[in-house]
Amino acid sequence: MISKVTTVGAETAKMSRKRASVRLVPICSLVLLSILVAAWAPASAYPFQRVLRRGSRGADVKALETRVAGWYPRGDQTRMALNRIFGLRTKRAVEAFQAHYGLVVDGIAGPATFKVLDRLENKNGSTAHFEWGEFKQNFNSSCGAQANAYAGTFGGGMVAPRRAKRNARRLMWRLEAVRAKGGRQPIGVNSGFRSVEYNSCIGGAALSQHMYGTAADNRMVAVSNRTERVLAKRSQLSGIGCYSSLSHNHFDLRLDNADLPAQRAWWWPQKDSKGRDLDATGRPCWGEKKRAAKAGYGESRASREQAGGGNLVPTEREIQAFETAGEVSELGSAD
Ligand SMILES: [Zn+2]
Repeated sequence: MISKVTTVGAETAKMSRKRASVRLVPICSLVLLSILVAAWAPASAYPFQRVLRRGSRGADVKALETRVAGWYPRGDQTRMALNRIFGLRTKRAVEAFQAHYGLVVDGIAGPATFKVLDRLENKNGSTAHFEWGEFKQNFNSSCGAQANAYAGTFGGGMVAPRRAKRNARRLMWRLEAVRAKGGRQPIGVNSGFRSVEYNSCIGGAALSQHMYGTAADNRMVAVSNRTERVLAKRSQLSGIGCYSSLSHNHFDLRLDNADLPAQRAWWWPQKDSKGRDLDATGRPCWGEKKRAAKAGYGESRASREQAGGGNLVPTEREIQAFETAGEVSELGSAD
């Protein structure tokens, strides 16, 4: 659990590290250092080296698509594929990204767009407001040694660790888009990747996207689950799950998961006649009706708060509790 630093905490820690290093290193050696570093390391988290526009093709186009897909503006299950071809959908996504970040909206990805993307990416390949630790497998004291063997890693899943990590990174970029659209409120993740053994121990679904690194159980500060789901639908989250008795949303990238072809279709909640989202058992999702606040993590108020299940619109403190609570024991086979 030590590695599960909260999003808020991670942002603060990073900023103070940067400030400290600038203060400690004299200017002249800093210049020398920059020259040396520039000689062997890329200037950006991803080294985009040419302007990308409609018709461009290649690995760099796919890297761009990975980073802006969450901005493709349609929320009607029109897919923007990560296909290495800068098509009209890629252009629309770039335009929406540029509009949000106050850039010239021309649908052409050049230095100004790359600069913002660079700011949103950490050198270790995670995104600015998420970190690997949040997506690696949890440790759960009620699971055995085999299930916990991969705690803190992307190992033991249905795909190689590298692939699971790549999938988690794709998911981070979509969540960055949700976060930005939701007023830059932190999103707390309490379950990302799970090894096969671990998923089985906590009662996850037999074909859970979590075993591929393509899923995250999450809540957002100051934003209701319902609103967050609306944002997710406009951010290319192809799998969206919610629960009548649990206070989190499950988001995944099942359309992008080529290793689980049986699930490569949009999966969003069904709605009832009142327009409420329904969970897999046909009951209104948590927060869709007032009484739902009473359901959830056991009957005691203390346990609900500990797991971040207290409020319809969670506070920062509640999200932190949710993140550190880890897996929800009564998840059943929901996801
Ligand atoms: Zn889930």
